[in-house]
Amino acid sequence: PGQYQVPGNWPVKVKGRIPIDPQNPSIVRDDQKCILCGQCLDVCEKVQTVYGYYDLPIKKDITCVHCGQCALWCPTASIKERDDIQSVLRVLDDSNMHVIIQTAPATRVSLGEEFGLPPGSIVEGQQVAALKKLGFDSVFDTNFSADITILEEAAELLNRLEQSNILPQFTSCCPGWVKFCEYYYPDLLSHLSSVKSPQQILGALAKTYYSERVGIAPENIVSVAVMPCTAKKFECQRPEMNSAGRIIGNPRIRDVDFILTTRELASLMKLRKIDLNGLDNEAYDQLMGESSGAGVIFGATGGVMEAAVRSLYFLVSKQRPPEQLLELNAVRGLDGVKEAEVIIPGKGSLKVAVCHGLKNARMILEKVRAGNSPWSFIEFMGCAGGCIGGGGQPRTSLASAD
Ligand code: SF4
Repeated sequence: PGQYQVPGNWPVKVKGRIPIDPQNPSIVRDDQKCILCGQCLDVCEKVQTVYGYYDLPIKKDITCVHCGQCALWCPTASIKERDDIQSVLRVLDDSNMHVIIQTAPATRVSLGEEFGLPPGSIVEGQQVAALKKLGFDSVFDTNFSADITILEEAAELLNRLEQSNILPQFTSCCPGWVKFCEYYYPDLLSHLSSVKSPQQILGALAKTYYSERVGIAPENIVSVAVMPCTAKKFECQRPEMNSAGRIIGNPRIRDVDFILTTRELASLMKLRKIDLNGLDNEAYDQLMGESSGAGVIFGATGGVMEAAVRSLYFLVSKQRPPEQLLELNAVRGLDGVKEAEVIIPGKGSLKVAVCHGLKNARMILEKVRAGNSPWSFIEFMGCAGGCIGGGGQPRTSLASAD
């Protein structure tokens, strides 16, 4: 909060459309295309409970959490993600730069929609092939760092349980949710896990571990991520997201330099005349391309929780978790709030909750604030359905609006 300069006349309440700060790092609006349908306001105000909450001490600051749901619902593409395609093209065309890219769990099941495939088609290998064709030097899988995130989160939870420290623990991998918590529930920030998101972990590794392994200076590595998410554009610019830079003594080096949403990647491919349907599968680069099944379920609501519970079980018992933990059905599906009770050896019964969409988050947070929370661990995702419903995902039925 407070890191952007807000124009004196912002926010302007305009009937029928959401005000967007011109310096927003994630979202832009083209007023010429706006038909004042009000869908952006509806989703922001009623589903996300963000718009209309200006009567807080923070009212002079920007309350946008960058989830991009307004962009997803806008039927005329008047609201869109901030465009990073030209920046990525510039670095791809610069022979002095080594450009790596990572792909989020959710984009491999949605990119196909932009090329006429049915929703849910798995195009992991074709996506890798497209990125190689575009000229990326290495293609890594964010599932690799999702595995790291979950091991760290499970270890932190174990520590909190053993120390009877601040519980419930909140997940911290969704930047839209994190900013929501920072703005509206700053008194609960100590509940947030200290672990970075998978995107930022992979970015930091790219400019340290990978840089060393391939013998390329971090200054010459550009780190790009394909995400279903507009908030990730904000996350990678947060001042503290330069751990690689701090380690090597050059704080200007960012862990992740550019984000392309799923929609932007499709546009970039079309610009370079690459048709996903004509590509054979290719594999991720090995150094950071392998992952477990825990990493891949990060893309949907409940996935982080399911992965965390499995990992916690293993950390405590050193045993493979039983089937009912490997498939934790109680936290699957699209109910707004889901709960489960799991038995962890030596720790007894643990109550956990999962919610998606910020209105549901507000409901849960009010319970925690009032001291009425029965849970030890809560997964929060900013978008309805989790990242598969992210603000940067294809608007298939509205694709012609772009
Ligand atoms: Fe981004 Fe996923 Fe969070 Fe939506 S749920 S803001 S897509 S990280």
